[in-house]
Amino acid sequence: MTTYFNYPPVAVQRELKCIAEMIVAPGKGILAADESVSTMGKRLQEIEVENSEEFRRQYRQLLFSGDPKLSDCISGVILFHETLYQKDDQNEPLVDLLRKRCIIPGIKVDTGVVNLYGSEEEVTTQGLDNLGSRCAQYKKDGCEFAKWRCVLKIGKNTPSYQAILENANVLARYASICQSQRIVPIVEPEIIPDGDHDLDRCQKVTETVLAAVYKALSDHHVYLEGTLLKPNMVTPGQSCPTRATSEQIAEATVTALQRTVPAAVPGVVFLSGGQTEEEATVNLNAINAYEGKKPWKLTFSYGRALQASALRAWMGKKENVAAGQAELLKRAQANSQASLGKYVSGSVVGAAEGKDLFVKDHVY
Ligand code: 13P
Repeated sequence: MTTYFNYPPVAVQRELKCIAEMIVAPGKGILAADESVSTMGKRLQEIEVENSEEFRRQYRQLLFSGDPKLSDCISGVILFHETLYQKDDQNEPLVDLLRKRCIIPGIKVDTGVVNLYGSEEEVTTQGLDNLGSRCAQYKKDGCEFAKWRCVLKIGKNTPSYQAILENANVLARYASICQSQRIVPIVEPEIIPDGDHDLDRCQKVTETVLAAVYKALSDHHVYLEGTLLKPNMVTPGQSCPTRATSEQIAEATVTALQRTVPAAVPGVVFLSGGQTEEEATVNLNAINAYEGKKPWKLTFSYGRALQASALRAWMGKKENVAAGQAELLKRAQANSQASLGKYVSGSVVGAAEGKDLFVKDHVY
């Protein structure tokens, strides 16, 4: 074993750190709008809109072209490949709508999950082939950060050692390749909420998984100051009979992070993971209000919990575009407040109020 290695050149370190810190600037978070074609299809089906390239374009245009005030709350948007190359009604690239609003474009670079043969239906995430050249192109095309989602499941025997190790390693390889192309990697080891496990079990699994992820990132010499972590919050399983308060969720989540996430990491951007819009906001607020050591920014990178009301207000109709945009802004403002620990529970009510956003075995 040798202990000789290099971090990225100093100029690259500066660039990565600066991008990561801008994304987690106070009061800001990420809009995850990187649903794949099939996942977008499920969202559109709920509002009875056809899953065509044109409707996906119209919807993403709605998200990116509303009130410029959105950029007071949203620092970055994660795009799907298709969206990066689509244009608005005036033939302007959608990505330029973001840049004009000083919102940083990011890109999903994984290509989805496959089963780990011989495991209890556990998975790993694919997409390392050609990742370096894809990242180089995405950087040229304006993307400053990337996302790669790994999925871990809690069961009696899972997550297994195989799944924990494999997913930690693939996240580290992805992160290292991104940094080689001056792209900030968002490292997402999502422990999905499916199951009847309790809060304590979720906390212990989260600690074990995050410890493995940071060991792998260290082994691959990933420059932590130029990364962000996108974890699940620590919650009881979706079908656990004992529910937890937001204060309990906050304590369990911050404790798991304190035990495993190095202080060099600038920010933690939670996924919403099937929580309702309001739950995701209230829990983020409780996390920020929790008193304890928190050397990182704690904010949001929500998909469903930022978009549910906007989708419902839009319903695929041109005359509803402004209403959809207003819903997105309201929810973004609520989460901005929550990222500062200043959200007043129940003060923002959306068109999808209380709607259950849980999706079994959720794919992105
Ligand atoms: P949700 O907030 O809908 O869980 O999704 C965020 C995301 O980007 C998952 O990869």
